[in-house]
Amino acid sequence: MSEPTVTFLGGVREIGGNKVLIEDGPDRILFDFGPAFSERMEQFYVDFLQPRRASPVQDLLEFDLLPRIEGLYSREALTDSDLPYRAPEVHGLFVSHAHADHAGYLRLVDPEIPVYVGAGTRRLLETIEASSPSMKYGEHRWEVFADRAPVRVGRLEVVPFPVDHSIPFAYGFLVRTSAGTLAYTGDFRQHGPRAPDTHAFLAAAAAESPAAFVTEGTRAGPDPRRDFSEEGVRTGVDRILEESGTLALACTYPRDVDRLRTLYESAQAADREMVVSPRTAYLLEKIAPMFPRDAVPTVGHAPGLSVYARKKRRVATWEVPYLESALEAETLRARGERYLLALDFYHFPELIDLRPPRGSPFIHSMSEPFSEDDVSDQVLHNWLDHFGLAFHQMHASGHASGPELLEIVRRTAPTCVYPIHTQHPEAFERAGPKVRLPELGRPYPIGRDA
Ligand SMILES: [Zn+2]
Repeated sequence: MSEPTVTFLGGVREIGGNKVLIEDGPDRILFDFGPAFSERMEQFYVDFLQPRRASPVQDLLEFDLLPRIEGLYSREALTDSDLPYRAPEVHGLFVSHAHADHAGYLRLVDPEIPVYVGAGTRRLLETIEASSPSMKYGEHRWEVFADRAPVRVGRLEVVPFPVDHSIPFAYGFLVRTSAGTLAYTGDFRQHGPRAPDTHAFLAAAAAESPAAFVTEGTRAGPDPRRDFSEEGVRTGVDRILEESGTLALACTYPRDVDRLRTLYESAQAADREMVVSPRTAYLLEKIAPMFPRDAVPTVGHAPGLSVYARKKRRVATWEVPYLESALEAETLRARGERYLLALDFYHFPELIDLRPPRGSPFIHSMSEPFSEDDVSDQVLHNWLDHFGLAFHQMHASGHASGPELLEIVRRTAPTCVYPIHTQHPEAFERAGPKVRLPELGRPYPIGRDA
């Protein structure tokens, strides 16, 4: 009988794009399946230049941007590709969380392959599909797992553990194979509101003396960016709102529910109303039932939360209920000091109507750009300069820091460490001699010091 192996089909020396294949005898399962945020990708596909909907696998394989494996893709996605269709040879796909770089290629996967997700992730994916016309995950045999309840796929046993990340309902996994346990972290941090979940996962991993530890390393290596804890963001935003007597603006990641809650709490403390887009209002309403009562504010129930009515020609059906009581630019312009408006980058033209007084605060509650020649960062600053807005960087990362990662590796004491989802896997070598810098597509035996 062949020994179990782990193969990295994506996420190697790049952020995102994790595709972790685990094989044990005849049983094959895959963890995560999305595009990477990498230079390799952006050499060919950027902004609105994207693979054709009619032949996505063909267009991605052209530049080796997808793994060339049979028995995984749907017949439809394979249209015009030189990869032949084969009945499923992967027996389950586990999705760690709903971020695009982990779930964005689900729509390419054969609908016969079961897709295992947490109940919250299932709800998030449905919500994103319903409110973002460009996001489609495809039809699947969805299997919803419960926290810490083992799922058996052939001889493999997978135990999903909730972890803290910048989107709710994120998981790490323990995968028990015939040669020992592999722990896969997904994306995680331990400085957000669900830090105890991360600690419990890492403790469970260490308790099984894992043969392999597959960890994300987003912040490994040089990372000059400032960063706060979620509480630190709260304190910072409180101070900005306290010092401002005009309209306050903030920009966040659309699915970072922790951040939306932090901003809402800051607005409440400052006697301001928080104003969000219809899409954010819809997301909050759909996921609130998955949280303890009143943990997630929703429009119409939570005090001081309303919707902003952007100037639009066409309105989607799901938006209609939020627009009846939505606030228009005129209202926010007249009494700016009463509001904190969470605005998307793509909605900046609203500033032309809002005309916040010069010096009004703009809270950038997202990560700082990776490079100095980031085009959208330049555009953002052009807008802020034009309107004379005061820029404030206030963000807590979704990822553990470099020093934390090294400490976690030491404490987990696995036989082998495989850093993925990082541009600097070699930064892990400081944690000890067991670090393997994975090569794309090469199978590594689990349970043996490969
Ligand atoms: Zn993520």
